[in-house]
Amino acid sequence: MKIRSPIVSVLGHVDHGKTTLLDFIRGSAIAQREAGGITQHIGATEIPMDVIDNIGGDLLKKLDIRETLPGLFFIDTPGHEAFTTLRKRGGALADLAILIVDSNEGFKPQTYEALNILKMCKTPFVVAANKIDKIYGWETNKGLSFLETYNKQPRSVQEKLDNNIYELVGILHEEGFESERFDRVQNFARQISIIPISAKTGEGIAELLAMLMGLAQQYLKEQLQIETDSPAKGTILEVKEETGLGVTVDAVIYDGILKKKDTIALTTDKEIITTKIRSLLKPRPLEEMRESKKRFKKVDEVVAAAGIKIVAPNIEDVMSGSPLRVAGKDFNKVKEEILSEIESIQIDTDEMGVTVKADTLGSLEALVNMLKAMEVPIRVADIGDVSRRDVFDTNIVQKENPLYGVIIAFNVKVLPSAMEEIKSSNLKLFSANVIYQLTEDYKEWMDAAEERKRKEWLDAVIKPAKLRIIPKLVFRHSKPAIAGIEVLAGTMKKDYGLINEHGERVGKVESMQDKGENKPSTARGQKVAMAIKDAVFQKDFEEGDVLYVDIPENHFKILESELKGKLSEDELQVLDEIVEIKRKEDPLWGLRVEY
Ligand code: GDP
Repeated sequence: MKIRSPIVSVLGHVDHGKTTLLDFIRGSAIAQREAGGITQHIGATEIPMDVIDNIGGDLLKKLDIRETLPGLFFIDTPGHEAFTTLRKRGGALADLAILIVDSNEGFKPQTYEALNILKMCKTPFVVAANKIDKIYGWETNKGLSFLETYNKQPRSVQEKLDNNIYELVGILHEEGFESERFDRVQNFARQISIIPISAKTGEGIAELLAMLMGLAQQYLKEQLQIETDSPAKGTILEVKEETGLGVTVDAVIYDGILKKKDTIALTTDKEIITTKIRSLLKPRPLEEMRESKKRFKKVDEVVAAAGIKIVAPNIEDVMSGSPLRVAGKDFNKVKEEILSEIESIQIDTDEMGVTVKADTLGSLEALVNMLKAMEVPIRVADIGDVSRRDVFDTNIVQKENPLYGVIIAFNVKVLPSAMEEIKSSNLKLFSANVIYQLTEDYKEWMDAAEERKRKEWLDAVIKPAKLRIIPKLVFRHSKPAIAGIEVLAGTMKKDYGLINEHGERVGKVESMQDKGENKPSTARGQKVAMAIKDAVFQKDFEEGDVLYVDIPENHFKILESELKGKLSEDELQVLDEIVEIKRKEDPLWGLRVEY
């Protein structure tokens, strides 16, 4: 048994300093080579404990953080795309995360998105409030701990920084996290630590590393215990063509040992394959690289945690983010394990819903979870480019329910044949490489579509109006009766039913004409010739009669509850008259509650 270094990922909004932070941590570790140096990995950098001790040792002691870990293993690719892609059974590959925020700008869309992903994966994290050196009047003290540099700042600068931190605390609170500046945290199990830093000057980095160690101690004791002689478990970082080597896969090993002679099981988008390792490669340290000109160095074995490049046949189609296992004798068991690992990500889908495509299992899962949180039903959730088949199937959905006849695509291509199909069918495609943007765009579009639908629905509600039959202008007695009318209040529309003052049905507006032109509606004060279906002159109505729109009871209820504010004075007046007429016959008209 041994304890491995916790795997750490850096997440945050673009330009908030992820890369600069990783560079600083690497740089300061390289500068301290004599103290043990850093361990080079493929796709990752491991900072050993003695280096961390040198950078932030006093603090570790002060905060009573015991040094029981070998170090910290930083994934070199920052960002939440990498975070969601890199998975292991039961969640994210990273054991810990740094959520970095530009402390002067505060939370931005991708900060929220990263926070949501951390919440979803239940990954312990700290918040690095970056770019403190940009506060107006800040006096830089390169490489000092935060508390040392803070105490040297003028009062006004300290206040500005305090304000920035309070804003972060406020936003995190709204998002369901209690937080505090790290030195004021009372309960590390309940509060998130915020560490003010400058990734550029190194101020505060000591505390950042110390807090990560503390977090690991608090939460990860068991998770980090590994058996150094058990077959390796890992996650594929990426598949890469290397000159002179052909296609290689980069992997992070998080458990066990991987040996040069091993046969490994990997996953393509179609099947689980086995392949025999040809070589295991590590990056060559800089000074050696100058002599040998080769970037990589062969090794016989690696123990977790490790980042390694693997040369092997038939690995072109292996998926980023998929599991790696040593195949051993019992391939079936390994296969089952891999399948259950992949299936744990596979997503329950609904019969009716949107089509979701993403580039990796992890990003697909993140996107689907966010859509589910928005209560968007999902019919298909799949990895890979948007194909003609996707468009075809989504078109069928669209005919049934336009709100769900959409494709939401994250970080994938739309194949040319699919694009043609989309153009000719007017299908709505949402495509982006920021999950947050996709969900926002879809929500905006859906809200607009629902609003349109609601408007159409409300437009269809029958609204109050009344008219007068103009004397001496009855042109035809029946089938249909045609008379000159004047609209006295509201707007008369085609197909509206008409009643008289006693509530008796007169007929239905068949058409209206003005100077030989058909009119679908006639507003107050206008005079037209109206054809009234089913009405007979002198039986159902007389010259000079006032007729009202026959409002159905259920329409009246919608008018009352949803549209009252939209009716004009004269419409409200007529509505009262119509209600009075209706209630003469039926005193409870419009008052009954429907169950
Ligand atoms: P990323 O997109 O999150 O990886 O952000 P980068 O690390 O590329 O940083 C974006 C810009 O902010 C770069 O110009 C950095 O030099 C700058 N930057 C990052 N951290 C700091 C900091 O602490 N202080 C200052 N003044 N600039 C910073």
